[in-house]
Amino acid sequence: MTDRRSFLKASLLGAAAPVLAWSGKLFAGPVPGALSTGTARVVSTWDFGVAANQAAWAILGPGGRALDAVEKGVQVPESDLKNHSVGKGGYPDRDGHVTLDASIMDADGNCGAVAALENIEHPISVARRVMERTPHVLLVGAGALQFAIAQGFKQQNLLTPEAEAAWHEWLKTAHYQPSINSEVRDYGKSGGQATGMPGGAGNHDTIGMLAIDAQGRLAGACTTSGMAWKMRGRVGDSPIIGAGLYVDGEVGGATSTGVGEEVIRNAGSFLVVELMRQGRSPHEACKEAVLRIVKRRREASKTIQVGFLAMNRAGEVGAYAIQRGFTYAVCDARRQDAVLPSESVYATSYS
Ligand code: ASP
Repeated sequence: MTDRRSFLKASLLGAAAPVLAWSGKLFAGPVPGALSTGTARVVSTWDFGVAANQAAWAILGPGGRALDAVEKGVQVPESDLKNHSVGKGGYPDRDGHVTLDASIMDADGNCGAVAALENIEHPISVARRVMERTPHVLLVGAGALQFAIAQGFKQQNLLTPEAEAAWHEWLKTAHYQPSINSEVRDYGKSGGQATGMPGGAGNHDTIGMLAIDAQGRLAGACTTSGMAWKMRGRVGDSPIIGAGLYVDGEVGGATSTGVGEEVIRNAGSFLVVELMRQGRSPHEACKEAVLRIVKRRREASKTIQVGFLAMNRAGEVGAYAIQRGFTYAVCDARRQDAVLPSESVYATSYS
C-alpha cells in the first residue's frame, strides 16, 4: 500500500513537472548542523536577513540574550525604507494605510503580538511590551496603537513617497493578486540581481528570525507590513502565534513567510515545531508543513509562495518552500553573512 508521504511525493511529481529541489549557484553550503555547547546562532528569512542577523549578532556574539537579539535584529528591516514589505516604507493596504503585524516569543512560551498597528516604526518592540507588560498576547488596531503610545512609542507617518507612488500605480488597476516572493537570481535575465522589489520579487515578505544564545536559550521574532494592497483590517500569519512564529524551548522554533492565509489554515509554525518534537529534522519538518499546504491547495499552490524556516534546540537549521527562490540568512561565530537557498516543491517560481 502506498503510504501518504510516498503518495504525495508521487502525485506532486506527476502534477507539476519539473518538480525539483533547487540548488542555487550563488550560495555556499553546507546547511548549518548542530552547534557545539556554549555557542550561538541566528537565522532569518530572505536575503535582507543578513543585516538583521548582524544586528542580532552584536548581542549574541558577546553572550547576550536571544530575546534581546531577535528584537534588535528585526528592527533593522523595520527601519529600512527600501524594504517595502516590513515596517516603515512598507507597501500600504488598498486604502493607503501602512498596517504592521509582529510577534515575539521566548523558549518558555512567553509571547506577545500586535496586528494591524499603524504609525509605529517598531511593531516588534510593541509586541515585546505586550508580552512583558500586559496579561494579553495580542493587541490589534486602535487598541494596539493606544497601548504603544501609552508605552512611550512615538507616532510617525510610515507611508514613504516611494510606497505611496507604488500604491497610486496599483490603484490604476486595483487588482489584488499576491505575486510570488522570490530571491531568485537569474543570470540570463537579470545579471545576477534579485528581481522585483527590494527584498526580491513579489509584493509581500516577512522577516522571521530565530536565535539560540550561548546559554542555549531560544527566541523568535516575526514582523511584516503584510500583503501589499490587502483589504483594510486584513491580518496575516506573522502576529498569530503558532502560524507565523512558534518557539518551544524543549524542541526548537519555526517561522514563516509567504501568503499568510495558507499558513494560518495549517497552524504552520506550530506544525513545524510539533514535527520536530516527533523527531523530524528542521528540514524534514519544514518540508512536511509545506507539503500539507500544497496537498490541500493543489491548484492555488502553483501561484503562491510559502516558506518555513526552523531551528531546533541543537542549533540545526532547515527550510522549505513551495516555490523556488526562498532564501534564508545564517549567522554564527564562523560566518556572519551566509545566505542559503531553500529547497522547494516547484522548480520555477516567477515570470
Ligand atoms: N506572511 C506575510 C503575510 O501574509 C507576507 C509574507 O511573508 O510574504 O502577511
